[in-house]
Amino acid sequence: MSTQPSLEQIKSKVAATRKRNPAYGEVVAWLGGLLALTLEAAPPRLPEDLGLADRRSAERLAAGRPMFEPGGLPLDLDLARELLTQLRENAAQRPQGREQAQGLERLLAASPERFQEVVTAFLAGDREAQAKAAEELGLAPPVQNLFLRLALRPSLLALAQAACEGLDLAPWTAGHCPVCGTSPRLASLAGEGGKRSLHCPNCETAWPHRRLCCPFCDNQEPEDLVVLTAEGQEGYRLDICRRCGQYLKTLDLRSLAGPVIPVLDDLTTWHMDLVAERYLEENPVAPQAS
Ligand SMILES: [Zn+2]
Ligand SMILES: [Zn+2]
Repeated sequence: MSTQPSLEQIKSKVAATRKRNPAYGEVVAWLGGLLALTLEAAPPRLPEDLGLADRRSAERLAAGRPMFEPGGLPLDLDLARELLTQLRENAAQRPQGREQAQGLERLLAASPERFQEVVTAFLAGDREAQAKAAEELGLAPPVQNLFLRLALRPSLLALAQAACEGLDLAPWTAGHCPVCGTSPRLASLAGEGGKRSLHCPNCETAWPHRRLCCPFCDNQEPEDLVVLTAEGQEGYRLDICRRCGQYLKTLDLRSLAGPVIPVLDDLTTWHMDLVAERYLEENPVAPQAS
């Protein structure tokens, strides 16, 4: 399942977030504008033959092997460069965006090989390579990742849509994205009984996943699966695994307006990352007896 949220949905989400949490007002309005840029971009040019017959085989899905390797996704990098140029112009117009614009300028001036390496480091979640590139470019790593995510967004979404078209994802029980293999940061609950979906931060694919099971380590012991909620934060909760020390930020779409827009919802739940990190610091994960 991968449907692109419309401009209207992005706008109403921006408005709802600003109302609920004014502290995010400025950043969410800025990000909403950048997301609109990604929607207005020309359609990405992807290879005609994506080899989906093999990639979508029932056998492959049942084995938990994603359709594409994170570093080997066929994406339109020319379009990504065009979008980065627009993002640079946007940053240059913001008083606090000058350094970001300079960092993006350096990225755009990089050789095609280096540009591909930076993109691959982002997609593969290679933190070390990301930090090295960020230092070279003079960008903070989270900012670098945000710009790359936005610049690659049209390609990633088009790829995910082609990959999932008419496909039943029920046989996919793994905790990582069936299309690009990325680990989720967000989950949502919807419908009767609150069925859980996990959301890919990169290609934005959503797939079903059992509620009482950690997607990162498969832990199914209820006493090791902690749920944290906070007053005044109705519809939001943290699902923390006491076995592996990882967590998901969960949006309950029975009380919050959807759809989940991963890049936006991830940024506007930053305070939940702090709560999760504090919890894990105060309740360190016990080493497992093997
Ligand atoms: Zn994905
Ligand atoms: Zn776990």
